Amino acid sequence: MKKIAVIGAGPAGIEAASLLATQGLEVVIYEKEGQPLHNLTDKAYLFPNFADAQEVSKEILAKLSTPRLTLKADTEVTQLQPQAATNGWLVNGEAYNAVLLATGYSTFDAHRKEELGYGIYPGIHTSLEMEKMLREGKIVNTIGDTPRRIAFLQCVGSRDEKVGNHYCSKLCCVTAVKQAIEVKKLMPQCEVYVFYMDLRMWGQHFEELYRQAQSDYGIKFIRGRISEAGGTFDRKVQIKAEDTLMGRPLKLTVDLFVLMVGMEASRGTRNLGMQTAIGGDYGFVQSVDPHIADNLTAQSGLFVAGSCKRPMTLTDSLTDARSAAYEVLKHLLVN
Ligand code: SF4
Repeated sequence: MKKIAVIGAGPAGIEAASLLATQGLEVVIYEKEGQPLHNLTDKAYLFPNFADAQEVSKEILAKLSTPRLTLKADTEVTQLQPQAATNGWLVNGEAYNAVLLATGYSTFDAHRKEELGYGIYPGIHTSLEMEKMLREGKIVNTIGDTPRRIAFLQCVGSRDEKVGNHYCSKLCCVTAVKQAIEVKKLMPQCEVYVFYMDLRMWGQHFEELYRQAQSDYGIKFIRGRISEAGGTFDRKVQIKAEDTLMGRPLKLTVDLFVLMVGMEASRGTRNLGMQTAIGGDYGFVQSVDPHIADNLTAQSGLFVAGSCKRPMTLTDSLTDARSAAYEVLKHLLVN
């Protein structure tokens, strides 16, 4: 029986692995973390329809029980190399007929933007931490009270020359709108501001969500750059910004300041991309052609799927994984 290794048990890895196993192949998924799907199970609700992330995760995780599919959790792939004699690949010393890389993304470390005060002042959180509060249904300020004013800041670690990430992370605009609405649903009295460079509401129903945020929830969107955030004596956060539409400086004191951190290539994506010479821009891996061969790589028998290539939505990752599974099957017919 032919054997396939899938590296990464995120949505793309699980989807492709389960499809390949249903086609009679023996499939092993390698996951460096203890639990699969951790980038999805840590979410509360999904944009744009507020689907329960735990329910969606359950559906995806159920695919791990497909016969012939094995998950090796807590297992980081350190060796990935072609095996000329068999026309296959070696993964941590085990032989496979083909390998699918689905090593996903990691989020930008907000400590790298020191001027935004993350880890220095209380009340400054990342969008991941806000997601956790939303999942638990309880948002409190630094002294345990209900916050009266919250500000979100877009593009943290993306579209930013200083940190070397020129690209747009694609998902944080809509995530901020979604989180801002969730905050208003929990605390209708709370004032909510979103500071943005441009709002990129490119997906189906995203624009509607943005309109709804303004018309139904009264969320205020300010086109502006925040130059600095600092703490106040009463454990609030003061932000200094420039309203770039009005062309004037602005100071705002808020209870919570939320940094919408962008997506970066994960450590596994960087390492394995380098090891196999398919590393591309910003540490993401590179397919042969983004239009017509987006799951193939310069290495025969090595395939790529999902956000190890670039920032991608859950929907796009799943679709991309199905396409990658098809490419693996095609490859096995002639190899
Ligand atoms: S999606 Fe929006 S917040 Fe995220 S990097 Fe792009 S423009 Fe900035």
